Amino acid sequence: METLVTRSEQALDETDYSELRKWAREFAKREVLPVAARIDRTDEYPFELQKKMGEYGLLGLSVPKEYGGLGLDLMGSVIVGEEISRVSLSAGFIMGVQNGLVGSAIALSGTEEQRSRYLPRLVKGEIIGAYGLTEPGAGSDAAGISTRATKDGDSYVVNGSKIFITQGAVADLLVFFARTGTPEDGAAGISAFIVEKGTPGFSVGQKLEVMGARGTATAELTFADCRIPASALMGREGDGFLIALTILSKSRIGAAAAAVGLAEAALEEAIKYAKKRNIFDRPLAKYEAIRFMIADMATRTEAAKLLTYKAASIHDKGDEFLKEAAMAKYFASETAVWVAERSIQIHGGYGVSKALPLERYLRDAKVLDIVEGTSEVQRWILSKELLDGE
Ligand SMILES: Cc1cc2nc3c(=O)[nH]c(=O)nc-3n(C[C@H](O)[C@H](O)[C@H](O)COP(=O)(O)OP(=O)(O)OC[C@H]3O[C@@H](n4cnc5c(N)ncnc54)[C@H](O)[C@@H]3O)c2cc1C
Repeated sequence: METLVTRSEQALDETDYSELRKWAREFAKREVLPVAARIDRTDEYPFELQKKMGEYGLLGLSVPKEYGGLGLDLMGSVIVGEEISRVSLSAGFIMGVQNGLVGSAIALSGTEEQRSRYLPRLVKGEIIGAYGLTEPGAGSDAAGISTRATKDGDSYVVNGSKIFITQGAVADLLVFFARTGTPEDGAAGISAFIVEKGTPGFSVGQKLEVMGARGTATAELTFADCRIPASALMGREGDGFLIALTILSKSRIGAAAAAVGLAEAALEEAIKYAKKRNIFDRPLAKYEAIRFMIADMATRTEAAKLLTYKAASIHDKGDEFLKEAAMAKYFASETAVWVAERSIQIHGGYGVSKALPLERYLRDAKVLDIVEGTSEVQRWILSKELLDGE
């Protein structure tokens, strides 16, 4: 199979997303599908798949070409993310963290030295990145983080911890956020840094077992008098919260795309099953209750998809997209939970059995409802945009 890198060298037409979708669907079927259930069951990080994703160009979709990425617009990344997550949300997470969070943060706010040191290897999958914002005491209230980075000569000394960090247990580098100002400074006192694995005082705490997006090495990370060079700062002191929010608003659209992929997978299974399962004298698909349920599932999935594509296209035009991103993330993740649950209902006992992927879809969808800002946080953003503006 041709890699996305060679394909892009042959002038991948950014407006022809159908080619890109076809490519991503083929990759997902060939490389991701055979390992999707195993990743979920064993909860083991799929190093081989991660390497293959790097080799084929999936880990640097939106990273600029000069650093080895594909430089796709967000719509391109959304389409690839939708197709990969349709088969395995865990694979979608690996792609999203490496590319949408870590790669994008370094490309956007890293120094030239940081970009050339990390991006080419991140894109190829030679190193694994993680993004550490959440702390045991601060999740939704990200401005309330308490990890501290204290300037000491030519370095910073970091103390604190991060929790629920995807790829945290296997990461070679962590983009993280810490307080350089006082707690009273709030968001303005937060700065962004990069720390490399093996730095004394930086360690992986316990690996956390979660219900969905399994096999993505979710972990707690701790800093105990961890000394990092002043050159590990991204942007300027105090820029951290803005960097975190800029990256998260964009990656929220990626999370919405993953939810659309999951909902599509659950819907597709429901349609197939309803047509082939005979109940009493006829196929399930002939009962109006089931037909209407499938009509509702398809309508909500399509609405989630349109909101997601709209948010991506507004972003790509360079317009303000905060409201659309929040709507897409909130609606698509709740839709994925609902559609996955309905699909289980249509499958009856087989739906809850581990032999089929449906119960995995439901567990995965629920995680999407929490990460990158919960549904309540998205509604909070929306209500502020709608009610408190000028
Ligand atoms: C599998 C997984 C992977 C993750 N990966 C990462 C990662 O790579 N990097 C990272 O930094 N973080 C990561 N996270 C953390 C995730 O972003 C947080 O869990 C999430 O932001 C919620 O924070 P919290 O868990 O502290 O919940 P809390 O903030 O404590 O929220 C608890 C409840 O309160 C609700 N709530 C919050 N604010 C309001 C409000 N204003 N009004 C009403 N209700 C409200 C929430 O919606 C939620 O229902 C991950 C989490 C999971 C589960």
